[in-house]
Formats: sequence, structure tokens, C-alpha cells
Amino acid sequence: MDQLQYVSDNLRHGPAAIWAHLHPVIQSLKEDIDSSIIYFIINGPTTQYRNKINFYLFATKVYEYGFTCASLNFLEAGHGKGAADGIGGVIKRKADDLVNVQGKDITCAKDLLEGLKSNVNVHLHEVVEEEIDKIESGLPNNLKPLPKTMQIHQLQTVRPGEVKHRVLSCFSCQETFCNCFNPVTTSFTVEDTAINLLELEARRIPQLIKVENVVCKNLKSKYCVMRYDGRPYPRIILDVDEEEEEVEVKVMHCVGVNRFFGP
Ligand SMILES: [Zn+2]
Repeated sequence: MDQLQYVSDNLRHGPAAIWAHLHPVIQSLKEDIDSSIIYFIINGPTTQYRNKINFYLFATKVYEYGFTCASLNFLEAGHGKGAADGIGGVIKRKADDLVNVQGKDITCAKDLLEGLKSNVNVHLHEVVEEEIDKIESGLPNNLKPLPKTMQIHQLQTVRPGEVKHRVLSCFSCQETFCNCFNPVTTSFTVEDTAINLLELEARRIPQLIKVENVVCKNLKSKYCVMRYDGRPYPRIILDVDEEEEEVEVKVMHCVGVNRFFGP
């Protein structure tokens, strides 16, 4: 995995900012490793990550990237993130050099990005204010806190807007989310989530073509959406049998957010 460092003119550290910063890394993960599940491991029991807004974003945003399941894990304090802090230190020293040695002016994130581009061996990404605003504007304002929020160490979502959570984590069982240590399920209600499944489906497949409810030869080579296991998947119609009212479809592979290709 490449190292990714963020720069931003925005100094917000709340959940919307966190998810705006996570965007490029989650997107490239989904593209590089086409996994259906994503694990987050968070260092330290900080309130920045352990709150109802972050839990809500966790329970909704992962689906926008095409994951069907996600796990969020909090480590106890003291588990260092030395490597990440080390990269941050290198960036800061290089930025000092740009100003002190090369005499450059750095007045904003863009200047820093431009100046460091050829100087550091990490991917640099700028998070702009609009990306944070976009996430923030989609947040419902009546979210209820999860019971025992400050003690929760492990959460999982398998359905948009729903989280299963527990105070003690289990990493021993092979199941994605076992029933050890009495997990509790909490749903952000539909009004709360303001996220409607149909809307989510439409967002995943933007070029949704409405297929007439009549099976005819014209459908050949057209795209369609097939519901499998409760989720929509794009397909290409290979052949049509008008008499039997059947279509033969070709599977497409997911290669990222809203990106599919046919084999
Ligand atoms: Zn278990």
C-alpha cells in the first residue's frame, strides 16, 4: 500500500472532514483490491472518531463505495501510529526547507502541494473545503447517540443505516461478525438516515437505463440492472428469447465505485 499524506486549507477535524480525507484512500483500495468488506482500525479511544455522526457516516458511506459490509475497530490508547507521524515529520521538514533553503512562499495547501510534488516519495492529496461541506450537508440533524458510545470498541454494518456494536471486540472468530460479547444492533431510522435505498442504488449505477417491461429483440446488447441477493448489479443483455420472455445476460465485474467492465 502506498503512503498517502493529506494537505488542506481547512482545519476542521470533525467526522465530515475525516470522511472527506478518507475518500481517496477508500476509493483506491476499492479499485486495487476488489473486496466486498472494509476494515477500519482506529488508534486510541478519541471522541473525534467515536461519536454518532462518525458511526452514521460509517453505516452509510461504505455502501457508496460498493462495499457490502464494513468493520470499525478502536484500539486502546497507547497503540502508536509512529509510521504515520514519521511521514508527517518528513513533510514538515521538507516544507521548512522550501521556505528557508529555497526561498519559496507557502501561503496555502496548493503551494505546499506544488512545492513538495517532486521532493517527497509519498502521494500527496489536497482535501478541499467543498468535499467536506458536501458530506456535512447530507448529515441528518436528529441522529441519536448509540448506547454506551464511549465504551464501544467494535462496530459492523451489513445494511445501510444499521450498525451492530459491542464494548468488547472479538477477532478470534472466522465469522465476519460473531455474536460474542453480546453485540447490540442500532438502526438510524429512515428519517434519520435520509438515505433511501433506491437513491443509493441510483447513485451506484448512474447510467441506469430503464428497460421496458416487454421482452423484445431490441433489448439485445443493452444494459440492464439485475437484482441479486437484494443488491443491484449491471449486466449486458446477450440474447433475448421473445417467446419464453427470457433474456441471457453477461456478468460485469466491479472495478471501483460505479465502475464495471464486461469479461
Ligand atoms: Zn467471536
